[in-house]
Amino acid sequence: MKLEFKHSLSLKLLRVVLLCALLVGVLLSVAQIIYDAHKTKQSISHDAQRVLAMFRDPSTQAIYSLDREMGMQVIEGLLQHEAVRHASIGHPDDPVLAENSRPPLQIDSRWLTDPILGTEASFSIPLVGRGPYSEHYGDLHLTLDTAPYGEDWLLNSVIIFVSGVLRALALAMVLYLIYHWMLTKPLSRIIDHLSDINPDHPGEHALPMPRGHERNELGLWIRTANDLLSSIERNSRLRQEAESSLQRMAQYDFLTGLPNRLLLQQQLDNVLDDATRLQRRVAVLCLGLDDFKGINEQFSYETGDQLLLALSDRLRGHSARLCALARLGGDQFALVQTDLDEPYEAAELAQNVLDDLEQPFMINDQEIRLRATIGITLFPEDGDATEKLLQKAEQTMTLAKSRSRNRYQFYIASVDSEMRRRRELEKDLRMALERNELSLVYQPQIDFRHHRVVGVEALLRWKHPEEGMIPPDLFIPLAEQNGSIIGIGEWVLDQSCRQLRELHDQGFTQLRMAVNLSTVQLHHTELPRLVSNLLQVYRLPAGSLELEVTETGLMEDINTAAKHLLSLRHAGALIAIDDFGTGYSSLSYLKSLPLDKIKIDKSFVQDLLEDEDDATIVRTIIQLGHSLGMLVIAEGVETAEQETYIIEQKCDEGQGYFYSRPLPARELVQYLKQARQSEADRLLPY
Ligand code: C2E
Ligand code: CA
Ligand code: CA
Repeated sequence: MKLEFKHSLSLKLLRVVLLCALLVGVLLSVAQIIYDAHKTKQSISHDAQRVLAMFRDPSTQAIYSLDREMGMQVIEGLLQHEAVRHASIGHPDDPVLAENSRPPLQIDSRWLTDPILGTEASFSIPLVGRGPYSEHYGDLHLTLDTAPYGEDWLLNSVIIFVSGVLRALALAMVLYLIYHWMLTKPLSRIIDHLSDINPDHPGEHALPMPRGHERNELGLWIRTANDLLSSIERNSRLRQEAESSLQRMAQYDFLTGLPNRLLLQQQLDNVLDDATRLQRRVAVLCLGLDDFKGINEQFSYETGDQLLLALSDRLRGHSARLCALARLGGDQFALVQTDLDEPYEAAELAQNVLDDLEQPFMINDQEIRLRATIGITLFPEDGDATEKLLQKAEQTMTLAKSRSRNRYQFYIASVDSEMRRRRELEKDLRMALERNELSLVYQPQIDFRHHRVVGVEALLRWKHPEEGMIPPDLFIPLAEQNGSIIGIGEWVLDQSCRQLRELHDQGFTQLRMAVNLSTVQLHHTELPRLVSNLLQVYRLPAGSLELEVTETGLMEDINTAAKHLLSLRHAGALIAIDDFGTGYSSLSYLKSLPLDKIKIDKSFVQDLLEDEDDATIVRTIIQLGHSLGMLVIAEGVETAEQETYIIEQKCDEGQGYFYSRPLPARELVQYLKQARQSEADRLLPY
């Protein structure tokens, strides 16, 4: 803050002091002038008495002897005096003996002095004879002009007035300088320092003590202000500490140290912002304990608290998959999962958490089992705002509790029923084998060199008693999850080898059978023995069974995969890599794996005529496979144009709807027979 000079205290003081000094100066001067006027009047009368006294004797002589001549001489002598305007000698009863006068003096200041001193002043002295009779002969009259006296007086007055005013001015100036030096300057320095003070840390810089003012009011002021500033600093620090601990208390749960609802809401706000931007899915899981009240009553509230603490530790065990974990209050917790691809990942997490609770808690040597129910909402499906998602998750949890406990439930009816359907399917899948619901279809594979069917791929089908056909893309992941793929896979292998034996027996001796292997199967140590057994049992030549594995399955652990593939090869199977190009496609691993065939994924084949990139990929894969000494097959061939292109690029084999859809065994035999016939027709010369 800058002080304007015109508002400064010293200027104000200067004005007041100046005014007062002027007033006093003027008053004193006026008094002096009045006094001088009085003195001047007195000196006029003095002068007159002196002159009269000087001329008394000659005047007495003249009137005594009635000598007019002499009288006139005396009068002339009197008029020598500059101020004498009129003089006369005479007796009141007789005519005047001698008399003379002159006009008043022309002096400029008369107009001012006449009213004060009078225009003229008259004096007289009696002319008396010598004793003993002292006879009165007459009087000597004298009239003095006051103007010359007034002129002197006026000059004096001006000097008095001006010097009085000048003195007042000088005094005011000196006072101002003293005041400025002793007060204004130190004060403005203090003001400068005050405005430099950081309001957040007022005690950081103490105000400096102005030199020479240590013991006066200024020094005292500085000391008091410094004390005040440091105590403000102390207080605000204490307040900040209190505030931050209050904030902690306001944001974290006291018992478990987990974020509370308030902090969760803030965290979830941020998570939703990010998810909106990145178009990701978020799941909010609200977990409520089943009958926690009963536990509190059965044991004690203290045990209940310990249990909640232990539970929060177990929940923390899932943090790797969570982006937020909070205690909503009481026996309710919230888990936030982000970056989900599919809703079932949230179901998986929920199931894991529930499974995790199966393990009993040990509290004070007591085994306590906890069960919980979880409500799940999804962003963006169930709501786009934190409050809505949380609220619906809690509602869903409460609702689920009221129906049955120890389970999870999704908010959205469709997702929820989808999840439920998956679980049902998963259960049904375990029985599918026993109930004879599984079957195989076979899709022919064509060799381009001889235009002959050289193999078939076995593809699994599941006819659900109520739901009808279930696509393998849906049920195979389920089977992989619950482990039933092992049994199913064995069945597929057995079934397809048996089928191949039959086909060989029907004369299609060169035919090969391709079977899909899931990653779970690949890592199953019994697989090589099973394969060699099957080949033996069904008397199949080495190289007639081809196992298709996917890239992703191999990439997880290259060394183990290589070992497993080698033992499968030893057992007599060929190895093909399926869906090639869709995974991480680290080409270098191709060399380190024992592979016989590359299967170009159908997504590239389907678009190769429209998409230049896909055509390039197809071409590159073919070249790469050949350079590594492998056969290359293209799957998903649907048109003659696609076939022409891949044949031009020297692809070895093709498979797809262009040749045939996957067929049940009986139809396959028909297809093979027809194919053999048309081949024979082509070869036979007409
Ligand atoms: P996959 O191994 O890539 O099988 C090829 C899929 O492409 C089959 O679908 C087949 O019907 C389909 N397909 C064949 N030609 C064409 C075509 O020209 N155009 C189009 N658009 N599609 C074509 P499917 O039978 O539904 O099988 C899906 C996936 O299920 C298979 O993909 C495979 O990964 C898995 N799978 C099928 N059977 C088995 C099995 O026995 N065991 C294992 N582990 N997985 C299997
Ligand atoms: Ca396949
Ligand atoms: Ca494929």
